[in-house]
Amino acid sequence: MTTPKMKPCPTCKDTDNLNVFTYDSGWRHVECVKCNYLGPGCGTIASAIRRHNSDQDTGRPSNSPDEVTS
Ligand SMILES: [Zn+2]
Repeated sequence: MTTPKMKPCPTCKDTDNLNVFTYDSGWRHVECVKCNYLGPGCGTIASAIRRHNSDQDTGRPSNSPDEVTS
């Protein structure tokens, strides 16, 4: 089974630290072990990656430090 290519972490812009973890609840999350970014939970690894990728495409402000002006 092949999984989609993950887009870089929205915080550290790196793919090296991204992994898909399965939680006790059964949900899969794309997670960054470096900055603790947590992607959307999905029932399958492929779905979790796709949701993570689509979030990067839409650039949700809540998940994008670049949007923050201080
Ligand atoms: Zn990160």
